[in-house]
Amino acid sequence: MKTSRRNFLQKAALVGAGGMVASASAQTSRLENIFSEVVPENDFSLPPLPYAYDALEPHIDKMTMEIHHTKHHQAYVNNLNKALGEMGKKDTHDSLENICKKISGYNTAVRNNAGGHFNHSLFWTLMKPSGGGSPSGALADAINKSFTSIENFKTSFSDKAKSVFGSGWAWLLVDSNKKLSIGTTPNQDNPLMDISDLKGTPVLGLDVWEHAYYLKYQNKRPDYITAWWNVVNWDEVSRLYSLALK
Ligand code: MN
Repeated sequence: MKTSRRNFLQKAALVGAGGMVASASAQTSRLENIFSEVVPENDFSLPPLPYAYDALEPHIDKMTMEIHHTKHHQAYVNNLNKALGEMGKKDTHDSLENICKKISGYNTAVRNNAGGHFNHSLFWTLMKPSGGGSPSGALADAINKSFTSIENFKTSFSDKAKSVFGSGWAWLLVDSNKKLSIGTTPNQDNPLMDISDLKGTPVLGLDVWEHAYYLKYQNKRPDYITAWWNVVNWDEVSRLYSLALK
């Protein structure tokens, strides 16, 4: 029931996009399939965490996960709905991906909170209990090709994440040449945003805001990053990678 409702909404969104932007709407369709759980109906809402708050212990602690999800992510959702309402777009807004892709047409409140909602919705799915290890298959091949080895990739990605000044995110993304690259965005920006210097389809992201780690790791961001590799959900990263290549 819920699935068919979503499918209907996706089709309706494509019809609404019109023929003039056919290639853009084809891309929209693919991204909405990736993040179908956040296709809007009216208000955006907080997606449930796909595991228990304590499931990522000891690497990420229960209280951090609970506050991060129920307070921080919920606030991005609430403030996004509020900001869209103030623009008169509460019930007629675009999908979350398309808002990000056309973010230059919105105000700062939408930019910060659409980014926050998108980034966190993605982030939860990129972790799982008993995760970690190494990727396999086509993703492993592509990482080896772009970064010479999995270990070298992890080191480069970690170094990028450590280098973020203040609050932001580190990303592994598929660029317009279908090549993997890594980079960072400030605040709640992401590589889908048309205003971002870093552009592409994100397949792995790491939140390095202090709220993501301060309760357990205090000022030791490198320790949080090292621990985070133990909960990465490589199956989901591989799935997003294969979708991003289509
Ligand atoms: Mn966060």
